[in-house]
Amino acid sequence: MDLTMMTPPFNFPTETACFETLFQAKWPNGFICSRCGHRHAYQIHTRRLPLYECHACRYQNSLIAGTVMEGSRTDIRKWLHAIFLISRTDSGINAKHLSKIIRVTYKTAWLMLQKLRHAMNQAIDSDLLSGIVRVNIAHYGRPHCPIIVPHPQRQPLFIAATMKETGEPCRFKIKHLSKEYLNDGLVRRTGTQLFTEQHVDQTANVDIEYITARFSPRRFHRLLAVAADAGRWINLTFHGIGPKHLQTYMDEYCYRLNLTLRDTPVFHNMLRLSATTAAVPYSVIIQKLACSYY
Ligand SMILES: [Zn+2]
Repeated sequence: MDLTMMTPPFNFPTETACFETLFQAKWPNGFICSRCGHRHAYQIHTRRLPLYECHACRYQNSLIAGTVMEGSRTDIRKWLHAIFLISRTDSGINAKHLSKIIRVTYKTAWLMLQKLRHAMNQAIDSDLLSGIVRVNIAHYGRPHCPIIVPHPQRQPLFIAATMKETGEPCRFKIKHLSKEYLNDGLVRRTGTQLFTEQHVDQTANVDIEYITARFSPRRFHRLLAVAADAGRWINLTFHGIGPKHLQTYMDEYCYRLNLTLRDTPVFHNMLRLSATTAAVPYSVIIQKLACSYY
């Protein structure tokens, strides 16, 4: 990878510039006290990280409280650089490259990326599919005479999308399907029910159709092509992964893709997400990786 291509196209020469950017992302309409909702504060400069003391209740609001950076000792410039790199729609970033580019240990880079991915996962899960929804079974992993002997690492997925009236998919989810919901290669009813409950907005009229047989003549080719692209991106960026990490990376892929389909700048959206999503503790990351199914 050409590391010179990894320089951000924006200028954050100082920590102060980064704090201003984070302030804008966290409070785009001006300061709001997290305790009482008051809109005016004094800035306290005596600490390395800025504090905002509320005029009304005197609560000291930390700029990084409630963000993915909370509790991290890593320089905020490195965090913003990592957010820029993970926002790249052409490649994303893996921990090995990130550690080289921003000069942190591999473990620190890995943890930063996991925290950013957790925020993406939250965003994907709270963004329910609605209206016309189409869902198709797909697979991650190289086929190995798939009709006779499935590859041991092959993982079943649901690729799902909200469709426009024109038939164009406009919002995607790819969810790792536990093998307990499969029976002779077909998805059990409990598997589709759970997906609908967790990922489809049923408060309004919804037209949902599942294709649960791999070689169905009615399969949704547009959706399957996206699942294949996501698998190729994972293999290229992370050199293939095991089932534990699959959901995390599929969510990352869909997060960027969905913003792109809405013509929304990924970096600015990711910055806002990072500034408004609480950091996930290491123990939760490990626990989550032990169970990656939807
Ligand atoms: Zn207050």
